[in-house]
Amino acid sequence: MAWSGKPHPHRLLLTKQFPLGLELLPLFQPLMQAANRIWNSCVWHSRKTFEQEDRWPTEGELKAKFKAFAAWKELHSQSAQAAVEEYFEAVSAYRKHRENGRAEMNPPGFKPKGHLRTVAWKRQGFGVDGNTLVLKLSRKKEPIKVALPGGWNVVTLPDGTEVKGVPVEVKVKAVVRRRRVENLVLHVTLDLGVMLVDLTGAVSAYDYNSAMFARAMSEGHLDLFVCRELLSLVQYRNKAIAEFQEKMSRLKEGSRRWRRCLSAKACVLKRLDRCIRQMEHALTKSFAELDEAEGVAFAVVGDLNGLRRSARTGMKGKKASQKINQMAYARLHTEQCYKNLMRGVQTDPWTEKNTSSTCCLCGARNPAWRRHRGLWVCGKCGLVLQADLNGAANLLKQYLFGSCTGRELPFAFREVRVWRWDGRRNRFVQVSSRAA
Ligand SMILES: [Zn+2]
Repeated sequence: MAWSGKPHPHRLLLTKQFPLGLELLPLFQPLMQAANRIWNSCVWHSRKTFEQEDRWPTEGELKAKFKAFAAWKELHSQSAQAAVEEYFEAVSAYRKHRENGRAEMNPPGFKPKGHLRTVAWKRQGFGVDGNTLVLKLSRKKEPIKVALPGGWNVVTLPDGTEVKGVPVEVKVKAVVRRRRVENLVLHVTLDLGVMLVDLTGAVSAYDYNSAMFARAMSEGHLDLFVCRELLSLVQYRNKAIAEFQEKMSRLKEGSRRWRRCLSAKACVLKRLDRCIRQMEHALTKSFAELDEAEGVAFAVVGDLNGLRRSARTGMKGKKASQKINQMAYARLHTEQCYKNLMRGVQTDPWTEKNTSSTCCLCGARNPAWRRHRGLWVCGKCGLVLQADLNGAANLLKQYLFGSCTGRELPFAFREVRVWRWDGRRNRFVQVSSRAA
């Protein structure tokens, strides 16, 4: 029987972090450096193959090549393989960018000799003994035992129930600041099993956009999340990257000023990323909490696999700027997915075909009725609505009836609720609808 690697869509995996302290560094350092040597071997071997044969080696080729290396024998075989897999993923991403015409991308490069690479232990690579994790090394070596606090494998869901998870992957990461190792952190990914989701209840639909996120709900609620702060952070991040890139292109690669520039860039990006991620989490959490409070069983989001992003905006000539101004939709989607799952809400991707060019109230379709400044003005029934809310309502209709065109809305709208980012409270709060 074929075993499918595809996990159940309602399986909840969460990662917990445990700081280990520097006392364990002497134990883990040789392993992390061995993983780094495997990475560097991958880089070296791939470059040589590319120069000589004009192709990139496959994952299997790399694994077979390094099996006899001394570095390979320091680690558990699965951990060593994980290092190669990580490199292979990085190279694949680089090649994909190249194919998409992004010539400025560089292939993954060598890491300095003493770099502490994250080491991963997969299912067969570790054991559990009460509150102790037993991390296996290569066959001849003694495993490393790590004591964890009680309740390390327990996760509390939003409704207060405690779920015991089964660890499926363990990683050890080094926290480095100003070239000094400050701590080691253990990341344990827990499998909390297949969550029970409600199969009866209301339906909500979401329209992800750059400055606005719209929500429509089958009981008539319409919500508009104003995300200008988030968008401007994303844009500012891209601008900062471009500026550093420009500055560094004028310096000699590897020189002292170039290196200083590189670390300044990393520092700026790290700070911005933290702000962006926090806002994204707050946004998806508000979605999940709203859905839970209103008895939603299915949350519908636009299927990201479609090609609609560039097509729908009507800004075809400005494709480049469009790409830069986008947010991480896929990441937001995953976050919403697992936050919903923790609350028993199922997330369903659905096609957004015609949702932005159809009137949600009467079902007539005409792309020209989407006016500038994000307003939908229907030429048939006269509906005037924020265009993203119209899109969300259509997505909801599409999910319920198969298509959003040629059909009237089966329920009445309630008042539009508007949510804005509150920087002082670090979350989205409801404001009066006039403020939008
Ligand atoms: Zn209409």
